[in-house]
Amino acid sequence: MTRRGVAVLGSTGSIGTTALRVLSRQQDRFRVAALTAHSNSALLREQQARFQPSFVGLVNCAGSPQFDWCSGAACLVDAATRPDVDIVLNAIVGAAGLDATLAALRAGKRVALANKETLVMAGALAAEACARGGGEIVPVDSEHSAILQCIGTRPRTDVRRVILTASGGPFRGWSADQLHSARIADALKHPTWTMGRKVSIDSATLANKALEVIEAHFLFGLSYDCIDVVVHPQSIVHSFVEFVDGSVVAQMSVPSMELPVLYALTHPERAIDDGVPQFDPVSVSPMTFEPVAHERFPALRMGIEAGRQGGAAPAVYNAANEQAVALFLEGRIVFGDIPRAIESSLNKLGALQGATREDLLAADASARRHVMELF
Ligand code: NAD
Ligand code: MG
Repeated sequence: MTRRGVAVLGSTGSIGTTALRVLSRQQDRFRVAALTAHSNSALLREQQARFQPSFVGLVNCAGSPQFDWCSGAACLVDAATRPDVDIVLNAIVGAAGLDATLAALRAGKRVALANKETLVMAGALAAEACARGGGEIVPVDSEHSAILQCIGTRPRTDVRRVILTASGGPFRGWSADQLHSARIADALKHPTWTMGRKVSIDSATLANKALEVIEAHFLFGLSYDCIDVVVHPQSIVHSFVEFVDGSVVAQMSVPSMELPVLYALTHPERAIDDGVPQFDPVSVSPMTFEPVAHERFPALRMGIEAGRQGGAAPAVYNAANEQAVALFLEGRIVFGDIPRAIESSLNKLGALQGATREDLLAADASARRHVMELF
């Protein structure tokens, strides 16, 4: 079997290290061809020694000039478009992953996409890049992996609706007052998943679920009226697909990102035993479902509205959120300021043009500036 070359962008992060665990077990099928990270040179060096990729890129070399690695943001596109790379696993966090995704799709690669911010910002450009270059996106996000697995080979016209599950995050039972001044440490304590800091905060505000609704819209060509969200605290059902005939199919597994990472690499094949333990329905009982408390988590509704509005609104939503989350993690604003920053940015900038990459990058920069001025 010829081994497929994989570039892991963001290899030092939560998804990146998860992917390398999967890839180290699947060396008969895959070869790690390229690795990139932002600034964790110590871990990147260990990974280089372990996987011997033909390309290593470190975006920010300021603290580690002794390495002979490609540096600067351009190394992401270089890694994503190399001839020995078949699959680009984009595990970068935030808008910084955009150009690598677009370049990989234009170069005809499969993009195993964890970096949902890319699609939220520029879903139409990603579709255009796929059409132009013959690339494809296979989602890593567990909900979207679930939807893909449920839909299988059926055409989109068979689907009546999808229901994304949300754990509800660490603040599911909190009051609006408690939420307003929630501490960083509490926000980072996710009940069912261990993840990077940014996506953990997004899960606490439910902005993550808004990003995922927009992601589902672009990935599966579904209108916003056909995408619902339900809270499922146990994170066993990763999403539901309801077909036109009323039948509902769900995908389940204990919460681990290893399975959706593996599936994004191997789709549509699944006769691959990666050591996932046998499923035990009794041990995951009971499973419960409840409606979203939209009044306490306004970031979800705002994101869906930005998605419906289209143009640059999703990019503004995403950038305002990224900037506000960064300020929250620096202890400069309170938790309740995150949705406030998003709302103010969308009111001011939501109607901006969003047809081209340049439009979207300008909208992104304006939203970040607006949030900085707000506080
Ligand atoms: P993380 O913070 O743990 O890792 C981020 C990675 O991106 C690191 O390797 C870092 O070096 C790199 N990076 C950060 N900024 C960069 C920049 N400016 N340029 C280049 N590289 C940069 O994040 P994570 O939790 O692994 O999440 C990564 C993506 O996957 C996010 O979009 C997140 O929403 C998505 N995701 C994560 C999970 C999860 O379980 N962690 C689940 C679903 C989706
Ligand atoms: Mg998810």
